[in-house]
Amino acid sequence: MKPDLLYIPGLDTRLRDMLEPEFTLYDLPGEKDQAAFLAEHGARFTAVATSGTVGLPAAVMAALPNLKIVSCYGVGYDGIDAETAAARGIIVTHTPGVLNDDVANTAIMLWLATSRRLPMLDRYVRDGRWEREGNAALTVSPQNRTVGIVGLGRIGQAIADRLPPFGARILYHTRSPKDVPYTYYANLTEMAREADVLIVITPGGAETHHLINAEVIEALGPEGILVNVARGPVVDETALIAALQDGRLGGAGLDVFEHEPVVPQALCELDNVVLQPHIASATVETRRAMAQLVGDNLIHYFREGTVLTPVPECQHLT
Ligand code: NDP
Repeated sequence: MKPDLLYIPGLDTRLRDMLEPEFTLYDLPGEKDQAAFLAEHGARFTAVATSGTVGLPAAVMAALPNLKIVSCYGVGYDGIDAETAAARGIIVTHTPGVLNDDVANTAIMLWLATSRRLPMLDRYVRDGRWEREGNAALTVSPQNRTVGIVGLGRIGQAIADRLPPFGARILYHTRSPKDVPYTYYANLTEMAREADVLIVITPGGAETHHLINAEVIEALGPEGILVNVARGPVVDETALIAALQDGRLGGAGLDVFEHEPVVPQALCELDNVVLQPHIASATVETRRAMAQLVGDNLIHYFREGTVLTPVPECQHLT
């Protein structure tokens, strides 16, 4: 008998193809039909597949009394209350490692594109301004800068690995120092004051909410560039917009936003920002590897009783 799996919509279709031979899939309906659906079917599910950004709302998790495993398509799992899950003996898994390269490449790309004003200059050519107005204004070189990495984990390290060819001096801020040859700052504002570029790659959630606040942005300063590839709420977006508008911050490269998919019009109107729709890991190759790991965790659990990549809160359960 195939186990019943609750499938939170919006996941990669390749994942669906992979899971269908092993599980009977039920799609979680839209909000208005959820309560009735969960009252009727909640008890049948031992497994859930979801994404890090959609996560698993507390009310849905509470309505699944026999849940054993939540497999998350993403390394960030701030949309899932892993502590509550662990307390109930539910294993949460995620997809660490397989997306490091693409997310790190995206961080570097956003930095370079912001520094060299890539989207603005692309528009300059397309709008015929080069022909009409002549050469565009000069931009700032990313070479030989001081780069502060906020969050030096798997992806933060992959970002640091890419910096030597840029002649960068590397600083980092985390809660505890790491065994690395970069300069550690326990105080984030002090690091921002020292840095030309701040690249944010921490987890999301309550602990990092508005970690990049008005004070940090102010310290980064009028020549500074902020790159956020972490989670939108890690940056105080209102403070960011105000600083960009007033010229108190030089520029920003943003993959993530506070209220996705809504992006404030004020950001869209600024020339000194580069915007992306949360696609740092969204390449064919990486998404395939992530889908594979989501499926492998689920299949492994039901065949062997163990998983490959539990989140830290659930490690003791495996
Ligand atoms: P890791 O767990 O390997 O690294 C997280 C790092 O953040 C650690 O160095 C940790 O150090 C630091 N950190 C955690 N909490 C804080 C805090 N409160 N203040 C300062 N530093 C903190 O995770 P990954 O590198 O694999 O992934 C990082 C995050 O990147 C994910 O959780 C996700 O939010 C985001 N991400 C975004 C993607 C996108 O599409 N834009 C794609 C993939 C990931 P310490 O514990 O010492 O503080």
